[in-house]
Amino acid sequence: MTVLITGGAGFIGSAVVRKLVGQRGTSTVNVDKLTYAGNLDSLEQIADHPAYSFERVDICNEEEVRRVFVQYRPSAVAHLAAESHVDRSIDAPGEFVQTNVVGTYILLREALRYWQALASREREAFRFLHVSTDEVFGSLGAEGYFKEDTGYQPNSPYSASKAGSDHLVRAWHHTYGLPTLTSNCSNNYGPFQFPEKLIPLTILNALAGRPLPVYGRGENTRDWLYVDDHADALLTILERGTLGETYCVGGRNERRNIDVVRAICTIVDEMVPDAAIGSRHRLIEFVRDRPGHDMRYAIDASKVERELGWRPSETFETGLRKTVEWYVNNREWWERVRSGSYRGERLGLGVTS
Ligand code: NAD
Repeated sequence: MTVLITGGAGFIGSAVVRKLVGQRGTSTVNVDKLTYAGNLDSLEQIADHPAYSFERVDICNEEEVRRVFVQYRPSAVAHLAAESHVDRSIDAPGEFVQTNVVGTYILLREALRYWQALASREREAFRFLHVSTDEVFGSLGAEGYFKEDTGYQPNSPYSASKAGSDHLVRAWHHTYGLPTLTSNCSNNYGPFQFPEKLIPLTILNALAGRPLPVYGRGENTRDWLYVDDHADALLTILERGTLGETYCVGGRNERRNIDVVRAICTIVDEMVPDAAIGSRHRLIEFVRDRPGHDMRYAIDASKVERELGWRPSETFETGLRKTVEWYVNNREWWERVRSGSYRGERLGLGVTS
């Protein structure tokens, strides 16, 4: 069995590849364009494993995508490649439409062409997992949860492009019979996350004694899931999910952004006390809110728990502690990642390009 994973050099994709190759020895081909968010350093521990192959390919390049299918003959696809940062989608929505919508369309088309030509046993075994986000459902008020039957109300260019890709996947299943599965997951955090997202950005700024920007009043609430728990959920859905179904994945860990930032300050103060910096809580600064900022996301994950037996193993407290510890101990990784064009500056104020 060979798994074709797209976006395997990214944050979540690399966690899936480390699990597939490092823990299970499953033959895996990683198809990744290596944008600013893709980093082969995240795969160093499995890079020389005989079960691992890497193809630097843009999923929008249909000839190359076709070649990869023919060359590796995968029995499953896990599609994670995407532009993934909401703030960047506000500044440059075109790239999100290109990779997330057009790229998913090309991948679906080539997967279908490949699947239709398979012998019947292989055709029956084949599965295509599309990895999406809970942001497609829009924003919740103080009450309620997103579930598999929640209507789509995407609000940002990022979530709109992901919603578009979810609909294409649905159509390829219903129209052409492609054996697809879709997951919609809440916010992830953990090791190897590009330090533009809230948790790693706050950890690195706290370590450096720099200001800790919090959008608006910090009341926006996210439902956090540790990345390895998400990777486990994805492999569970890929192996045991019912074809044509969608699964909501989340950790039952709702936190307001301000509480996340405060928790990081407390852990960093304890792990890396610095008399010159003093308490990191003093570094918190409320800044202009993100345009169109969704107020609250929360997932009801009971379907994936009940039907597939998946459960997260980390609480937010244990996962956050592990994450801070990882960034403290892996300075070389994030210094190299940061030596590219992004240096931690504010993105997403609405200057489109
Ligand atoms: P990421 O930005 O860390 O990684 C994305 C990867 O995709 C990178 O390695 C990048 O090089 C690659 N990529 C981008 N465009 C490509 C293209 N055109 N062709 C080939 N490769 C390309 O993203 P992530 O946080 O790991 O998210 C992975 C997936 O999970 C995305 O589809 C995202 O929408 C979804 N998701 C993320 C979260 C989260 O909290 N991070 C939550 C739910 C769902």
